[in-house]
Amino acid sequence: GEAGTSQALSSQNVKALFDSVEAFLFDCDGVIWKGDKLIEGVPETLEMLRSKGKKLVFVTNNSTKSRKQYAQKFQSLGLAVSEDEIFSSSYAAAMFLKTNDFPPEKKVYVIGEEGILEELELAGFTGLGGPEDGKKKVELKPNCLFEHDKSVGAVVVGLDQYINYYKLQYGTLCIRENPGCLFIATNRDAVGHMTDLQEWPGAGCMVAAICGSTQKEPIVVGKPSTFMMEFLLQRFQISTSKMCMVGDRLDTDILFGQNSGCKTLLVLSGVTTQSVLQDPSNNIQPDYYTSSISDIFELLGP
Ligand code: PLP
Ligand code: CA
Repeated sequence: GEAGTSQALSSQNVKALFDSVEAFLFDCDGVIWKGDKLIEGVPETLEMLRSKGKKLVFVTNNSTKSRKQYAQKFQSLGLAVSEDEIFSSSYAAAMFLKTNDFPPEKKVYVIGEEGILEELELAGFTGLGGPEDGKKKVELKPNCLFEHDKSVGAVVVGLDQYINYYKLQYGTLCIRENPGCLFIATNRDAVGHMTDLQEWPGAGCMVAAICGSTQKEPIVVGKPSTFMMEFLLQRFQISTSKMCMVGDRLDTDILFGQNSGCKTLLVLSGVTTQSVLQDPSNNIQPDYYTSSISDIFELLGP
């Protein structure tokens, strides 16, 4: 929609949205959960949508987990969601390499967590770095040379709570010195809910560190890049005009939906407030907005 054209979801317009859509794409943090805490009314809403034949898809920028680990997280929260309904930025990074015929004999250096390493391995690639390198220290002594693997052909950067100077030097040397080395960012979110009550620095600051040292810009595979949509469309043969992207961030979720041609619904259960949405300086307007996804259930009835 254009500036100022967002409609509050109501009992009048919810039916039209519902009838025009075959699949609901849900962002996770701020929509389904906050950190590890389920948002109220989510189970009933998802259940109702499934029982009415809607396809459900979950699209998260948080790269710290693999799809398998997310399926376990959904299960631990009492939600039945299967691995093939989940599209995480960790998976997107591995799929980007696969799609671009990244040679399996080359290695991938990871500034990030287990989720990226697991997805790389599943896709047949060799990952280096990750949490393990969080324990390593650099020796800043005269005549001391930092060695890096010349067969690294890509550096993937995501959220890394173990980031340190060793990893920054490793990733920087790969990108600057290995010919053709790719620089891939899982996402550039400024902040994320590492815990339920607070926001924490997101992958954006780790990505910015490598931008700073290499003076290069990354290929971003998470939202708002539409790269993940290609895989979604291979799995679910549904036109994007029959999808509704539901998210709590304007610059990732809503932009991703709009860039892909989906209908968009902003929920105010996460990082965006109504005053930010309606501020004249905001130029990203979803089709609809509402306080949380349980409104779909409340407004539509069971
Ligand atoms: N990145 C990190 C590190 C996060 O903690 C979060 C949310 O918790 C996100 C990204 C955003 O995830 P989502 O796309 O599910 O909102
Ligand atoms: Ca979110």
